[in-house]
Amino acid sequence: MERGFPSREALNRAFLGIARPRAAGSPADSQVRAELLTRLSAAGLEAREQPFSYSFVRPLRAMRSGLLCLAAAVAILVVAPPRTPFALGAGLLLAMGGWLLWQLLKRDSFFFPAAPAVGEPMVQTANVVAELPAAVSRDEDRVEVPARTVLLVAHHDTKSQNISILLRALLLIVAIVGALAACTWWIAGAVGPAGVSLRAAGLLGALAFAALAAASFEDRSPGALDNAASMLAVIEAARCLIERPVSPPLRLIILLPGAEEHFMAGARYFLRMMSRDLPRSATLVLNVDGIGSPGPQGIVAASRLAAWVQEGARAHGVALRRVWMPPGSGTDAVPFETAAYRALTLTSGALSRAVLAVHTEADTPERVDPRSVSDAALLLEALVRSAATSWPEESA
Ligand SMILES: [Zn+2]
Repeated sequence: MERGFPSREALNRAFLGIARPRAAGSPADSQVRAELLTRLSAAGLEAREQPFSYSFVRPLRAMRSGLLCLAAAVAILVVAPPRTPFALGAGLLLAMGGWLLWQLLKRDSFFFPAAPAVGEPMVQTANVVAELPAAVSRDEDRVEVPARTVLLVAHHDTKSQNISILLRALLLIVAIVGALAACTWWIAGAVGPAGVSLRAAGLLGALAFAALAAASFEDRSPGALDNAASMLAVIEAARCLIERPVSPPLRLIILLPGAEEHFMAGARYFLRMMSRDLPRSATLVLNVDGIGSPGPQGIVAASRLAAWVQEGARAHGVALRRVWMPPGSGTDAVPFETAAYRALTLTSGALSRAVLAVHTEADTPERVDPRSVSDAALLLEALVRSAATSWPEESA
């Protein structure tokens, strides 16, 4: 059987039925999951759904109030007379905003409240989980239990937004620079043109925080690059790993989380249920999000993990570049990293029209590059094979 996606037609066929708006909890969400289960089974995996429900009202409220607290704090600093008690209010708001955003990133309690309020809307969705059938040694009596586990992760949900990905990154920079300018102005009490510029930057920063708080969560993106292409690469890699088994055997789990676009709710739920079964020292998480743009693959990881991936890419002639995600753009690697797992994210290595279309109606299959998706599948397969023999060092 041919490997990867040798032509645009082959890739378009693979996108059929999955590259469509499918926000968490929507009717299309469950239809696409059913399609994914069929494909995973066809590839030879034992696939199942891991259903869960979560509150999206609470995390969204936390994000918006956190950002608005920061906006208000920065505005107070530049509007109130410098070095006066008003700063106490700004400091309190800053601490509260920071605390809310930190809780949102690091804690699950907003998503899975111990006691949901009566009538509180909960989103229903599911992770799709598949496992390679356990390897049995040739000696029929002894079942070989693999020592290592690799998770291939690619979220299945989509979202669209009123703020483009480029604008969001820009707003975040303006917000951070503005906050620093406001603090500088308050501490130094600069007068003259320097003071005016610092205050102007501060005000822009406050507005940028407020604009970020107004980001919407809609369901108009077909999500070809984000993240159907990544799912295709993962399923293709798994198919090849079944066709020619890994030696020595390792435990391979395919995890297609739901609700990644809702602050990684699905990966959080998976960890709640499964982390006892996944020892940190023997588990490696390869998250794939946003691959498929023309050009090199991108790797987001701590340096030693990135070096290990670079090595695999070089050995297989796959162009790879280390990239940084704009701050605040969470991926499914984040909950795993927070839980002290070795985790990395494979993504696109160059800014392109495809990347800029993420979270918009224009994230369509035509923009995705078949060669790039094939390369990602090849690299994933190679990384799983090398994990069987050369475990990456503890990440730095
Ligand atoms: Zn994504």
